[in-house]
Amino acid sequence: MTYNILLLPGDGIGPEVLEETRRVLGWYSANRNLAFATREDLVGGCAYEAHGAPATDAMMKKALAADAVLFGAVGGPKWDKLPFHQKPEQGLLRLRGDLGLFANLRPALCFEALKDASSLKPEIVSGLDILIVRELTGGVYFGKPKEITDLPDGQKRAVDTQVYTTGEIERIARVAFELARLRGNRVASADKSNVMVTGVLWREAVTRVHDKEFPDVALSHILADNCAMQLVRNPKQFDVIVTDNLFGDVLSDEAAQLTGSIGMLPSASLGAKGADGRQPALYEPIHGSAPDIAGKGLANPIATILSLAMCLRYSFGRVEDATLLEKAVERVLAEGYRTGDIMQPGMTKVGTAAMTDAILKALDKLSA
Ligand code: NAD
Repeated sequence: MTYNILLLPGDGIGPEVLEETRRVLGWYSANRNLAFATREDLVGGCAYEAHGAPATDAMMKKALAADAVLFGAVGGPKWDKLPFHQKPEQGLLRLRGDLGLFANLRPALCFEALKDASSLKPEIVSGLDILIVRELTGGVYFGKPKEITDLPDGQKRAVDTQVYTTGEIERIARVAFELARLRGNRVASADKSNVMVTGVLWREAVTRVHDKEFPDVALSHILADNCAMQLVRNPKQFDVIVTDNLFGDVLSDEAAQLTGSIGMLPSASLGAKGADGRQPALYEPIHGSAPDIAGKGLANPIATILSLAMCLRYSFGRVEDATLLEKAVERVLAEGYRTGDIMQPGMTKVGTAAMTDAILKALDKLSA
């Protein structure tokens, strides 16, 4: 079977880190009997330069036809003053919208070798492995009305609308329960049912899906503000956290910080399975285009390489291959290789390509 992958490097360090992913794909096709057909296109600021839009219809067609999209990063100061609809980030939003990517998976994993890099005490984060499942296409970022109006007394009034349907809640709950079964079998659902009616509906719908379809998974409910507190107090109490778009945005960034560096964290965004069993999916590091270090060969490629591991696991069902890649990353960190963002005293400082060299060597050793 050949997996069709669309590579979208984007802007800034995006092309640098995605180039390293391409090398890892090369290792897998040479050593693990995997066949990939890759295509590439522009997205973000570079697409605007070439075509006057951050995402073209031709690129979207390729994305819709792919088994998985591997995305680098978009944006940069050069495009900050563009009108809203032409901004690089709109390219990513169009991909999410057109592919129907409603489930955002954000693991927060603390590698043993990096436990001292966290702002929390090492014993609080050592062994941390949580997964935040965020609803990505509904809620207050998309609800209407969304407007600023003028009031007769000269003030302005701004409105965002938090809105969820049972269908939207049920489908994200299913994703969380299914993933929990592959991990620690526990789901904490975070909402604000004490003050928001969307929270009341959220809690009812999650409970119903659980009782009917996933009674074997342990479900708890937690208020989103308490969840934020618990993440810094005792994050290891969590396995999977499922939550809405707004709370997920905040909680996943908070969880990311627990692990030390933004250059280490991957993410996946998944859509609904079609009748043919295909599921749209986009994998990307959580970091941006890092204009301050772009073009210098300094970027940490690990977040992007771990995004490929998520792709192997979730889109291609190659769990062993995904684990192998994660173990290779763990190994190079244990051996002391560090890019600048995760540098610690006494370790070996390397650039983007040398970090990947070390990971490829570790893959060789681990699979020997
Ligand atoms: P950023 O994530 O690009 O950078 C924040 C800091 O982290 C910088 O100091 C950067 O050097 C560092 N950093 C990020 N990734 C790194 C890596 N792999 N290795 C080493 N260091 C790394 O966030 P920002 O500076 O707020 O945003 C820069 C641009 O990226 C903006 O235009 C923003 O809109 C865009 N952005 C894009 C995405 C995306 O494409 N998904 C996400 C966030 C921000």
